[in-house]
Amino acid sequence: MLRLVEKCYTLFVLKGRALVLFASDVLLAMLQQTATHVTATVLALVAFYLSLVSTSLPPTTYERDQVDKAIQLLADRGFSDEVFLLKGTTTFRRTDHWLNAFVEKENAYASTNFPFQIVTVYSDFFSKAADDTERAMILLHEARHLMGENENEAYSYVWRHREQLGWSLESHGTTESFVTIEQQTREAAPELFNCPEKAWEDCTE
Ligand SMILES: [Zn+2]
Repeated sequence: MLRLVEKCYTLFVLKGRALVLFASDVLLAMLQQTATHVTATVLALVAFYLSLVSTSLPPTTYERDQVDKAIQLLADRGFSDEVFLLKGTTTFRRTDHWLNAFVEKENAYASTNFPFQIVTVYSDFFSKAADDTERAMILLHEARHLMGENENEAYSYVWRHREQLGWSLESHGTTESFVTIEQQTREAAPELFNCPEKAWEDCTE
């Protein structure tokens, strides 16, 4: 009787070990399959990113210099998170890649592909923007897209931080870009212009 119990116990232990081995095999197979899927996804994303970069042109030396000056201005004004993204994670282009050709652009200054961190700067960025501050304002908007923010959030952020940036009605109110961006901000972030008691109904005044 004792032997029988012992035998049964042994069988139970053996069955338990077999179950553990089976479970570990299943777990290993699942991990291998997950790793395969992750690798395939990463490779697909890298291929997609390379296709975007390879079908567009980088800025010229002069244009890159203009971009760098605008980023430095953002650094000087305390926008450290945005500067980190623009300096450390962004690939700048001067022409549209194949994907941008299918996307309706919000304005003619720049566009951003999140999460691929590609910022395309168009000719208006260099010619219509009046100075480095206006170019910094445009990059500040794009940097908010680099964080995943939508148009409402990006326009709203720039408008609420225009004094910190040094881009205000007093300093730039007569430029074409200021008039254009204010109008676009009123359309994209109407909640900022819902204060009748403030000048121009602008809640940030
Ligand atoms: Zn935008």
